[in-house]
Amino acid sequence: YMPGGSGTAEAGGVPDFILVVVYDQSEQRRLERMRSDFIANASHELRTPLASLSGFIETLQGPAKNDADARDRFLGIMHEQASRMRRLIDDILSLSRIEMKANVKPSDSVDLAEIVRHSADALAPLGRELDVEIETRLPELAATVRGDRDELIQVTENLIENAMKYGGSGKRVEVSVARSSGNGSAGWCLCVRDFGEGIAAEHLPRLTERFYRVDVASSRTLKGTGLGLAIVKHILTRHRARLEIVSKPGEGAAFSVHFPA
Ligand code: ADP
Repeated sequence: YMPGGSGTAEAGGVPDFILVVVYDQSEQRRLERMRSDFIANASHELRTPLASLSGFIETLQGPAKNDADARDRFLGIMHEQASRMRRLIDDILSLSRIEMKANVKPSDSVDLAEIVRHSADALAPLGRELDVEIETRLPELAATVRGDRDELIQVTENLIENAMKYGGSGKRVEVSVARSSGNGSAGWCLCVRDFGEGIAAEHLPRLTERFYRVDVASSRTLKGTGLGLAIVKHILTRHRARLEIVSKPGEGAAFSVHFPA
């Protein structure tokens, strides 16, 4: 800026000050890279069942055309693959819906104890199928937090379902709601604990990454998409709540959600 001056610095004047505007694009780039990684991973995950479906269709049109046994078996597998694609698409859409609401703070009053009761009832049939009991420990009075009921049910159900699927060898899952002792005024803590195989320490920090699975084969057979905990993390971020995962291999795992006061 050159007061009274008509020209630029090259014209001989000396500017009083120079304004330098620096845009830090590294965060922007990181987000763009994450988005394109996500699209690549999602496409890969969808392509696998799709390739299998196409393969079976070709076989049914050709070599297995008149083989009734093979047809029934292949149709069963095709049904499984189609269900897998549907689960993936449902989870991808869930994630994108939650991301779109990331900056809107949920404002309804919800009772965590009611949410746990609802989730435990909804998952009781899966418990019977996997032979795992769900035990609840709930406070007598309402445990009220600000939140979105449907999203908090999704969090609770994802955590209980994982505990039953991956920690099922412990035969029971404990779900508790209690006052959490933080600094200052106490909030609430919702904890889902299993007594199964547990998780090795090196995996713990990566569990909430999209498509991260400790054991891909077992996650596939247990109908996992690798997106459950990523969805949990996104919902909790919107609720200003914190997820803490503690596990010792052989002794099970505990997923605790701390809600602010
Ligand atoms: P998935 O759809 O595969 O279940 P999640 O995002 O819900 O995906 O979980 C990611 C991975 O974390 C799972 O594939 C599993 O390997 C591991 N995991 C989650 N919960 C537990 C648990 N309670 N015990 C042991 N491993 C677990």
